[in-house]
Order: sequence, then C-alpha cells, then structure tokens
Amino acid sequence: MGIMDFTFNEDQKIIKQTVREFAENELAKVAERMDREDYWPHDLFVQLGELGLLGPTVDEEYGGAGADYIVQAIILEELARVSPAFALSIGAHSNLVLDNINRNANPEQKAKYLPKLCSGEWIGSLCLTEPGHGSDALGMETTARREGDCYILNGAKTFITNAPIAQLGIVYAKTRPDLGSKGITAFLVELDSEGVTRGQPMDKMGMRGSKTGELFFDDVKVPVENVMGIENEGRKIVMSGLSAERATLAAISLGISERAADIALRYALEREQFGKKIAQFQMIQDKLAQMYVETQASKLLVYWALTELQKNHAANMPAAASILYAAEKSTKIALDAVQILGGYGYMKEYVVERFARDAKLLEIGAGTSEIRKLIIARELIKQGKFEI
Ligand SMILES: Cc1cc2nc3c(=O)[nH]c(=O)nc-3n(C[C@H](O)[C@H](O)[C@H](O)COP(=O)(O)OP(=O)(O)OC[C@H]3O[C@@H](n4cnc5c(N)ncnc54)[C@H](O)[C@@H]3O)c2cc1C
Repeated sequence: MGIMDFTFNEDQKIIKQTVREFAENELAKVAERMDREDYWPHDLFVQLGELGLLGPTVDEEYGGAGADYIVQAIILEELARVSPAFALSIGAHSNLVLDNINRNANPEQKAKYLPKLCSGEWIGSLCLTEPGHGSDALGMETTARREGDCYILNGAKTFITNAPIAQLGIVYAKTRPDLGSKGITAFLVELDSEGVTRGQPMDKMGMRGSKTGELFFDDVKVPVENVMGIENEGRKIVMSGLSAERATLAAISLGISERAADIALRYALEREQFGKKIAQFQMIQDKLAQMYVETQASKLLVYWALTELQKNHAANMPAAASILYAAEKSTKIALDAVQILGGYGYMKEYVVERFARDAKLLEIGAGTSEIRKLIIARELIKQGKFEI
C-alpha cells in the first residue's frame, strides 16, 4: 500500500456499507427527534450491538470485532452523516470506554465487563472532566483513598457523555493527591454503586439526544480489583486515551463535512435565482470548491492520524492535528451549507443548521482547539526541527 493510499479493504467496505444502511434506514427516522426532544434511541444502540459494531477494536474473545481504529472511524463517520449526536455517544462508549478497557484492563476485568458493553447490554462513560478542571484535567480533585480491600471515592465529574444512561464509568481519581498528576489512578466504577448520584441531563446547543451529565461520588466503595492498570500510573492511561479519542472522534467531523457539503451541492444544482441555478454563481462555486478541498484534506488527515495511532499509541501530534483541522472545517462547512441554502438553511427542516450546532462540539470536547494547538507546538519544540 502506498504511503497515502487509504483504499478500504473488502471487510472495511462491507462495514461501511452496513453502517450506511443502518444510518439511512434506521437512524434517519429518529435523528430529528433526537435533536428536538433530546431523545436517546436506546433500541438503535442495542441494534448496533447485535450487528457487532459496538466494540470494533475490542478483542474477539471479549465480544469485540478485533479490528482496528480505521474500522472504528468508518463507523463514526457513517453514523455522523445522519446523526452526529448518535455518533458521539457511540464514540464515547466504543472508543473512550471499550477500547480503553481492552488496552488497559486485566483479563478478569475484561471478561467481566467487555462482553456486556460490546453486546449493548451496558453503556459506558469516561469520567475525566470536573467542574473546576477541564483543559487542566490532570489537576483533578476527585480522590480515592484505600481502606482495606476498597477505595473510597469522593468528587464530582461533569460534561460526561452517556453519564445519565451508563452502567459503567472509567473514573480517574487521585490516589496520591500530594504527587499531583503522578498520583492518578483509573477505576472501573459500577454506576449503580451506593454513593453515586447523577445530575439531570444537560441541555445543550447541539449533539442533542447524546446524553451529557454530571456524576457525584460520595464515599463510594470501589473494590481494589476494579483498579484499571497500575495504581498512581493513571496519567499514561489518560493521555493515550485522549489521543485515541481525538483521532477517532475526528471521523465525526469528517462525516458532518461530507454530508453538509453534499446537501449544499445538491441544493445549489436545484435552486434557481435570477433565472439560473445558483450553482452557476461564482460566489457559490467558491464555497463548493472550498468544501471539497477541506473535506478531502480532513479525510486524509483523519485516516493518516488513525494509521499513526495504530502503530503507536503516543501519536499525540497526528491525533491533535487531525481533529483540530477536521473539527474547525466541519463547523465552517456546515455554516457555509446554511448560507448556500439561504433562508431554508436556517430552518430545522433542512438539517444543516443541526449539523452546524453539532459540529461546534468537536472544537471543544476531547480537548479544545487551543489545547490541540498547544500539543502540536509542544511536540514541534521538543523535536527542534520541522519534519513531516
Ligand atoms: C457535549 C460534551 C461532551 C463531553 N464529553 C466528555 C466525556 O465524555 N468525558 C469527559 O471527561 N469530558 C467530556 N467533556 C468535557 C470536555 O472535554 C471539556 O469541556 C473540555 O476539555 C474543555 O474543558 P472546559 O469546558 O472546562 O473548558 P476550560 O478548560 O475552562 O476552557 C475554557 C477556554 O479556555 C481555553 N484554555 C484553557 N486552557 C488554555 C491554555 N492553557 N491556553 C489557551 N487557552 C486555554 C480553552 O481552550 C477554552 O477556550 C464533554 C464536553 C461537552 C461539551
């Protein structure tokens, strides 16, 4: 395969087609309701489990597909073309949680939790962000102190995707607060445990239907066997998880760009003003041409970063670069699509306004655009030479 040859193999093509049909036949029926009513289509989540698509990167012995990040991205890209919100919840479940457990948990933990999460019986959430610690996530204040064969967890997490509906959380807490970011441990926490409470689902600008919420931990007993990885070495799990999250969620931005650009082009070929199709106007052509270049560039960056991540989980720079670019462009493309559709673009019926609201989230979640630039700049400075 050539260095920039991202041709999908036969298996990948089949998965792409399967997810496209699922999205167009099933998800499309509820996408608008999800946005209007903040409705979570749980039955479709379970259906994805039945199709074997919830744990694409999880080992087959634990109920996953044993595939790679490319397959994960194909699934998110295709879902996002119809409902970016559904794709976000699936991304949080499949990548932030299942892939993380598959990479970092011990065999007993994997056997206990992964089959239920892969089948769709359970939903997972990744609990890193706190009310006072977003970009500075490693400054977290949630603590876990050892007492006998348990840890006692105290603290609060916020903006957590799937928190209102999840059964399992990967919760990061400080086991040695005196050591700062070197005292973080990852825990697998069953969210029906005594002492766990959930806030109301948060009312969002976009990504509606993807449930977002707070979690409060008040003297929650977590058995020692639910420590994931090594005590006090959770920082590595946080950081490698964030790279995987960025590289895979970037595929949601890509899906948004593709669909918004497609809607805009089709509309421009139909709509007439001044006796001409608006696609004949050069100012519309300018936007369409930019959409093409930016979507294509996003695609190359996204699949390149995933290939790098597959080789090396510390591929921070490619992951940050791909989502930085793909997310900012998808917001721009969705807004340009609104502009091409004119007054109709501003109406709910024409979908692109929802895509514009949804797209913005990818510039914030999984580390903001600003933090992504800091990661890239830090890496460049460390390298001391400009090499791509
Ligand atoms: C819908 C949604 C879903 C989410 N899902 C999850 C989830 O599943 N799990 C989870 O743990 N978290 C989740 N998050 C949280 C998300 O990761 C954080 O919102 C994000 O990291 C930013 O943190 P913050 O909101 O506290 O903003 P802040 O960190 O307070 O940032 C505010 C502004 O300051 C800027 N800023 C901060 N530091 C710097 C700096 N050093 N240099 C320059 N600018 C800076 C930021 O870029 C931003 O523009 C989700 C958020 C949303 C909105």
